[in-house]
Amino acid sequence: MSAHFDQLADAVLAGTPATPEDALAVLRADDAELMQVVAAAGRLRRAHFGNAVKVNYLVNLKSGLCPENCNYCSQALGSDAPILKYSWLSEAEALEQAGAGIGGGASRVCLVSSGRGPSTRDIDKVAGVVTALKEEHPDVEVCACLGLLKDGQAQRLKDAGVDAYNHNINTAESHHENIVQTHTYADRVDTVEKAKGAGISPCSGLIAGLGETDEQLVEALFALRELESDSIPVNFLMPFDGTPFENTWELSPTRCVKILAMARFVCPDKEIRIAGGREMHLRSLQSIALHVANSIFLGDYLTSEGQAAAADLEMIRDNGFVVQGSEEDLAQHDRQPTDPAIRRRGAGTDVLPNA
Ligand code: SF4
Repeated sequence: MSAHFDQLADAVLAGTPATPEDALAVLRADDAELMQVVAAAGRLRRAHFGNAVKVNYLVNLKSGLCPENCNYCSQALGSDAPILKYSWLSEAEALEQAGAGIGGGASRVCLVSSGRGPSTRDIDKVAGVVTALKEEHPDVEVCACLGLLKDGQAQRLKDAGVDAYNHNINTAESHHENIVQTHTYADRVDTVEKAKGAGISPCSGLIAGLGETDEQLVEALFALRELESDSIPVNFLMPFDGTPFENTWELSPTRCVKILAMARFVCPDKEIRIAGGREMHLRSLQSIALHVANSIFLGDYLTSEGQAAAADLEMIRDNGFVVQGSEEDLAQHDRQPTDPAIRRRGAGTDVLPNA
């Protein structure tokens, strides 16, 4: 079976798209075959993205207080998750936050706001932030994620300098009404199409671990291929207390790697981004996942903390990757070796061991 993954990579590299059956085989690979799956998907990753990792940075412009009821979301109507809740950041605050991510190596800033969708005033506010951001950092890509768009809003964002628009389909159409009832799957697709229609790069992805079947995960990925999403954030459910999904733990680190590998086989030349839940679900396999995916978020997420940005960058260079857009090869310099810590606990001491 292992040779099958390599043959599949050969076929995809030669231009034959992966089928739903291929995707299921990757998802259902035995854990003993994990490294074969990673090696085969890694060939596709390197063919299209070399050893670069795209680093993205989230700025939550407006947090919580959302009238929509997405069951997985800590910001949703009815969520009791004890998250930060605030209305719009000022332009200066937004620029300061974005600057921190850019200083940390991010080449894309994602400006996000909670809510069903933006008003005309909201669009004006975000347009102002984008214009100022582009003046200060002309090389940085800006992605907006503001919810469902109305006619004309995508063009307004495009005119302000927005490069990409994120709106995740989140799950398969056949599972959508189980996770949200205040808007439809078609509403979500419509917004992705509006972004595309305005010439904005579509960013749309999914969340794994929402009670979907294997077939529904495959269905969602093929829908994203059909939608021609340029970047595909793959989130792993973070089951916040106070949401309907609290205590829902369906994922293992190896399954998460296989989900990312499946995304790579189905959409070989698209940006596959390891998104929310990376640290919590991939755990010690985070760096293995980088050999399949080519993009991460730096530092914190919208309402939860990620690992320190310095640890993200260290992981990138420890694995022989470079930050996309970085002039220098981080693998070759700036190593700060840590001196061995002399043991002062356990055997031979009166202090408890660390086991
Ligand atoms: S619309 Fe966005 S912010 Fe609101 S509940 Fe859904 S995912 Fe959360």
